[in-house]
Order: sequence, then structure tokens, then C-alpha cells
Amino acid sequence: MHPFLFSDHDDTLPSVQSEAGAPFRDLIGLSLAVKSCTKCRLSASRKNVVFGEGDPRAALVVIGEAPGADEDSQGRPFVGRSGQLLDKILQAVQFKREEVFICNILKCRPPQNRNPLADEIECCMPWLLLQLELLNPKLILLLGKVAANTILQNSLSMGAMRGRIVKWKAYDCMVTYHPAALLRNPGWKKACWEDVQMMRQHYDKLCSAEAHSRTMVTNNDQA
Ligand code: SF4
Repeated sequence: MHPFLFSDHDDTLPSVQSEAGAPFRDLIGLSLAVKSCTKCRLSASRKNVVFGEGDPRAALVVIGEAPGADEDSQGRPFVGRSGQLLDKILQAVQFKREEVFICNILKCRPPQNRNPLADEIECCMPWLLLQLELLNPKLILLLGKVAANTILQNSLSMGAMRGRIVKWKAYDCMVTYHPAALLRNPGWKKACWEDVQMMRQHYDKLCSAEAHSRTMVTNNDQA
């Protein structure tokens, strides 16, 4: 296991119930179930399931569409050139990779990196929803048009989705370019920079609002 995938069982972390009623005590329990998943055809061609990695208490979760060849080989999300660029993007707004949680909608690689098919998304999305329930992030960064269209259930262009906060379920989401797209189109990096700056500002606002409400609760408890 990668050192910062997540720590051993931690009783202070929440548990969730699967659709079948099976409880997942924490991310490790969920990852074990996902790693033996054969719900869709991608289980036959994968080398590794790529569950995701990062801080189980991360307030920011980064979601891409699916693992590529490097990720499939290593069983880790966003490695290789795209991953290195993602690390730099996060660092540019003072996030270390290990402070956030990084994952994909699909946990197994589609052959030749084709886009996820509708039935594969339908099979795999419950895993992501359980993962998010356990993580309970304040903010989600969606990387690329495919991930954003899939999660937000629209067919909008990147231009129409990026640069603003979008509500999805209980989560505030932001959309920006996938690092692989930035490697192909370096001219889009400026827009991505603006997106992540805005994301950082919103993240800080959410965190300071939570810190303020915690202080209020503590003060009321002491009154
Ligand atoms: S892509 Fe998701 S649903 Fe399909 S086999 Fe992998 S983990 Fe299971």
C-alpha cells in the first residue's frame, strides 16, 4: 500500500452502508470490496484497480474520469506526466498531493483509454458515491469534460462549466481542464490557473466558515 493512501482502521472516521446493506467501516474496507469488483467488463482487462489515494479527512477531493496505462500498472491515480502536472497545479495553490484525496469515476482502465461507456459508469458510480460519503469533502474538483459531464449529468462545454461553483448533491464542485488535456493544449493552462485560484479561495472560505461555526458551538457550550 502506498504510504499516504490512508491510515489503518480509524474509529473516528465514519462508516457507510452499501446498496446491498453491507457496512463499510472506512476507506480501507471499501477499497477491499472495490479491488475484488467484477461488476463490469473492465475487470477482465485491468492490471490493477485504482481506488484512489490521499487523506481520508481531506476537505478537497479531486476526481478524474478513469485510470490510464500508468495508473493501471501502478494501481495509483494520476501518476505519469498527467499526475506530475496535477501535483504542480495543486502545489501552485498550496495543496500537497497527500493533503487531498484523488480518485476517478471508473476504478479500472478502459482499453486504449477510450471514454467510459454508460453501463460502466452505471456500475462504478455507486463505489464513488460510497467513497464520497466516507470522505465527506467540502469541495470537489472535477478534472476534464468527461468527468464533469458525467458527475453533473449535463453535456455542457468546458467553457460553460468552468469558472464557477456548481452544486452536486451536498457538495460544492468546480470544473477545470484535465492535466492530459493541458499537456496537449498548453494554451489552456492560464484558464486552469484561474480556476484553481478560485477553488483555493472558495476552499479557504468554506474552511474558515466551519472554523467559525465550531467556535460558536464551543462558546455556546461554555455559556
Ligand atoms: S470499473 Fe468499477 S464497476 Fe467496473 S469492474 Fe472496475 S471497479 Fe467494478
